Amino acid sequence: MSLSYEIENNGAWQTYLAQVDRVAPYLEADLIPYINTLKRPKRALIVDVPIVMDDGAIQHFEGYRVQHNLSRGPGKGGIRYHPDVELNEVMALSAWMTIKTAVLNLPYGGAKGGIRVDPKKLSARELERLTRRFTSEISPIIGPQNDIPAPDVGTNADIMGWMMDTYSSIKGHTVTGVVTGKPVHLGGSLGRVRATGRGVFVTGLEVAKKINLSIENSRVAVQGFGNVGSEAAYLFNKANAKVVCAQDHTGTIFNDDGLDVKSLQEHVAQTGGVAGFPDSSKIEDAEFWNVEMDILVPAALEGQITAERAQTLKAKLVLEGANGPTYPDADDVLGQRNIIVVPDVLCNAGGVTVSYFEWVQDMSSYFWTEDEINARLDKLMIQAVDDVWKKAQEKSCTMRTAAYILACERILKARKERGIFPG
Ligand code: NAD
Repeated sequence: MSLSYEIENNGAWQTYLAQVDRVAPYLEADLIPYINTLKRPKRALIVDVPIVMDDGAIQHFEGYRVQHNLSRGPGKGGIRYHPDVELNEVMALSAWMTIKTAVLNLPYGGAKGGIRVDPKKLSARELERLTRRFTSEISPIIGPQNDIPAPDVGTNADIMGWMMDTYSSIKGHTVTGVVTGKPVHLGGSLGRVRATGRGVFVTGLEVAKKINLSIENSRVAVQGFGNVGSEAAYLFNKANAKVVCAQDHTGTIFNDDGLDVKSLQEHVAQTGGVAGFPDSSKIEDAEFWNVEMDILVPAALEGQITAERAQTLKAKLVLEGANGPTYPDADDVLGQRNIIVVPDVLCNAGGVTVSYFEWVQDMSSYFWTEDEINARLDKLMIQAVDDVWKKAQEKSCTMRTAAYILACERILKARKERGIFPG
């Protein structure tokens, strides 16, 4: 299928294009001639990844690396191993990374990659062979100054370690900065694992101040109690908020006085889910959306807040830990009801921000303490909240639209100032 076909006919990519079109009327006239820069990926590489399976058979997998935009710096974005990975989805995900890095004002563009594979069906050796061959195939376009992959769905720190080793073998010397999300002893950063949940909390705290919502004794409901949701819940609990409800794939639990989040984390580590946590009552999953709450943290899946749920939601503030948890029509309802949504491209950017710190540390071979990393993370996230908030006030729009305006302005200004080669 051709790139033009993908550009014109894909769902996720179409969604992204619609977002750009929505922002266009807010942009300064001098940036409009450059807007098509955002509507096409700069570079898309499709690779064949053949590997010898443990039984001796040869299997071929299809892999991708898309660099959506490099106007502000090297590409940055995860590698996904999933049976549904396809070019159009990777294109959309790469574009959203361009937006996210620009909202945080990180010196990066946006990229994304993946392999259409079910990693659970491969042995550890097969997974390593797949990763190494894929890295070799995309090595002409990645690199610490070109494009820096990271973990995403179906990939992890071990896979990043193999990618770093393969790329380094090709170059003939160790290149730690080619990927982020590596194990800490291989040049990974302290604080990375908890960074996204921390960013959700920090952005929430900052916006709460702006809308005069006191965190102390506020009621928080968290959907998803994994990496992102559990850390955000922990920090809210530590700040004396009451985490009254938590939902994951095992069920929904409630305590009107607030759950003890530290004990809940231990329970989830032991049992695999929130269900059966002592000192809580089980409620129907659908009831999650009707709980009395001030703050909602969707930190599980996309497409969770429908227009119907938005009509009755009691929250004053929604913190999008997950990517894409709110449908566009639900967004409109929340806006009409004056419920503030801190959009995913800002709220869950703590992970990519600490990935940036990992890259900076790798490039200087000088490593920071976790306290230093958290302090720098908080500073950048607070700055980004302020930037987006100001833009929303200036343009009288939601924080999501403001984040997109800010990002598109930054990307297109860079494009304009660099000019179009060969001029
Ligand atoms: P995770 O796998 O650690 O946790 C996912 C959680 O969602 C689990 O608690 C799981 O039980 C729950 N869940 C799954 N199906 C559910 C269902 N049907 N109903 C309710 N809960 C369900 O994942 P994570 O790393 O915490 O990521 C969560 C979200 O945040 C994803 O959308 C991810 O893309 C996004 N995100 C994560 C990061 C990061 O650094 N981890 C960064 C940016 C965005």
